[in-house]
Amino acid sequence: MCRHLAYLGEPVSPAELLVEPAYGLYRQSWSPRLQRHGTVNADGFGLGWYAEGDPLPARYRRAVPIWADENLTDLARVIRTGALLAAVRSATAGTTASEAAAAPYTGDGWLFSHNGVIGGWPAAAGELAALLEPAELLGLEAHCDSVLVWALLRRRLRAGQAVGDALAATVGEIASHTDSRLNLLVTDGRSIAATTWGDTLFHRLERGRSVLVASEPGDDGPGWTPVPDRSVLLATPDAVTIRPLDATAASREDRIR
Ligand code: GLN
Repeated sequence: MCRHLAYLGEPVSPAELLVEPAYGLYRQSWSPRLQRHGTVNADGFGLGWYAEGDPLPARYRRAVPIWADENLTDLARVIRTGALLAAVRSATAGTTASEAAAAPYTGDGWLFSHNGVIGGWPAAAGELAALLEPAELLGLEAHCDSVLVWALLRRRLRAGQAVGDALAATVGEIASHTDSRLNLLVTDGRSIAATTWGDTLFHRLERGRSVLVASEPGDDGPGWTPVPDRSVLLATPDAVTIRPLDATAASREDRIR
């Protein structure tokens, strides 16, 4: 289900990150090499990026397959950014089919993507939905498991939890109620944070220059490092740290209401 990618570093075009790599996200939409669930990612796509000096990202999302969008080629060629998050979508059954459900989701300056599924959606997600305030629930952008995941994570970020802790706690919370796959990816344009919980993830650090975090390598070049399953990753162009995701500890944390 889905492939995603985040980049931080020297300014580049989205085309360099997504389209030009031989096995990049563009190609992963119809021919992913390592995807464990689903086959193609043709239910939409999205990219979000930060312009220099502006903490709020811009987004471009569509409900069509990425290869069917005639505007993307020009946009991806002319934009320059030092911080980008993008995803191609394989929709969970029973979710909204419009671009409103396509990652990245945003709020408070963040960009977020979820590669995975809340198991048993939507029936099994009732207890998770009950963790949100009614107004939060009514404000969800789309009827989609990943949008609910974002709402649960966002509460923790708003409450001031460090992003790695917020990710681990969100995974713990969801995993304690459902049998889910939860590869999460988030950035504020200055650092990238991610989890592995049921699907593949890699990083490539060119220390001092750039870092890529992606569901799978975009080329056969050196430097791609697999992230073990059930991990929390934090990355900047200077360093990548990975620690085991202890869902038991995370789910013991106090709930935020
Ligand atoms: N839950 C996601 C969705 O419906 C599944 C796709 C993905 O893995 N991002 O969009």
